[in-house]
Amino acid sequence: MGAPILYHQYCARVKRFRKNIFSVGLLHTPGILCYNASMQNELNLAAQTHWARFVHLFPAMRKHAMPLITVNNRIYRTAGRCWVEKNHIELSGKLLANPDNKLAMLHVILPHEMAHQVDFNLNGAPKNNRWHGRTWSEIMVKFGLPANAYHSLET
Ligand SMILES: [Zn+2]
Repeated sequence: MGAPILYHQYCARVKRFRKNIFSVGLLHTPGILCYNASMQNELNLAAQTHWARFVHLFPAMRKHAMPLITVNNRIYRTAGRCWVEKNHIELSGKLLANPDNKLAMLHVILPHEMAHQVDFNLNGAPKNNRWHGRTWSEIMVKFGLPANAYHSLET
């Protein structure tokens, strides 16, 4: 985890719906409930496997910590989002709750969001807010996934 101060600011902001959030990743966050140990283990394993692969593919990523990954049941419009400046990825708990979505969430959406973090760490913020631009697409393709900005999932 990079900047703890930024994280704690964020933590304060999400505290009011903490019951809907559990954390995965290398660090456990006090105050965030972890109510599904099995899902947490699966997410943790997928996250660490994917992140290790990104680091392997992009050795300059070695100096960057894996993003904190949390599940947020209040995300409806997107499957995931990446707060690149906070090194924090959120996944939609609503979509994750559907077993039909689990593989896509863990192995497509999660790497998609991680690729945003890798892109930011290596290249900085994209020009003109083009988050699915050339550098992000190249990272996705090198990882072995199509560089799609959208993925259809059912709640
Ligand atoms: Zn994206």
